[in-house]
Amino acid sequence: MSTACILCAAITGSVPTKADNPAVPISVAQQVESTHEAFEAGASICHAHVRNDDESPSSDPEKFARLKEGIEKHCPGMIIQFSTGGRSGAGHARGAMLSLRPDMASLSVGSNNFPTRVYENPPALVDWLCGEMQTYDIKPEIEAFDLSHIFQAALLFERGRIKAMPYVQFVMGVKNAMPADRAVFDFYRATVARLFGAQAPWCAAGVGANQIVLNEWAISTGGHARAGLEDNVRLDRGRLAPSNAALIKRAADLCEKYERPVATPAQARAILGLRTA
Ligand SMILES: [Zn+2]
Repeated sequence: MSTACILCAAITGSVPTKADNPAVPISVAQQVESTHEAFEAGASICHAHVRNDDESPSSDPEKFARLKEGIEKHCPGMIIQFSTGGRSGAGHARGAMLSLRPDMASLSVGSNNFPTRVYENPPALVDWLCGEMQTYDIKPEIEAFDLSHIFQAALLFERGRIKAMPYVQFVMGVKNAMPADRAVFDFYRATVARLFGAQAPWCAAGVGANQIVLNEWAISTGGHARAGLEDNVRLDRGRLAPSNAALIKRAADLCEKYERPVATPAQARAILGLRTA
């Protein structure tokens, strides 16, 4: 396997706090520093949420703007991906930062259960987010929490609501949603190849102890991989991850094991069809 592998650092998320792991970056300054370390360890995408000072999730465009500025300054060429996920706000607040024109944004195209609630992504909101991403030339990353979400991405592409071939991320191991199941993972891969073509890039993320499992499945089968404290705060049962960089390094080691070069930001931009930095 020789295709370069894109590593995405999911640095903060909206759930883990410093009580879970003191390395979770909360302030924008901490986020920029943690991203820079992950960048040096091989990450070419930063997937980011922002937080309030009390660690609660925020959707404040001003914070996103400062984060983007910091990453552009300290991590030249790195792909910036903002989350439009639903924990930080409701309705259009979830896309209020898209006018900042990040390279990418996450896009959930259907609803499912989360550990303690319903993750609501009503069709009208999905359609509005698609429109905003087209307006600001942002590539969506489709978060597939379920098989139907891959088909929904195909439908949105067919209807022209997603401009380029969808880039899908398989999310596995979220409690009450799809578990990390190898047969389903293989079916997801086959479905992406059938709907979007054998060469279509895709990526995968696993939550908690499944992070390393999904890293290995994706890297060994030609996909791209996400790691970071958003999804998992531990190295193993007994040890907290010391940083986002440590989790990216673990994925980079798997790339070496499976003889895949870690993609540079320029290679990642080419694979994803993004504008050059
Ligand atoms: Zn996220």
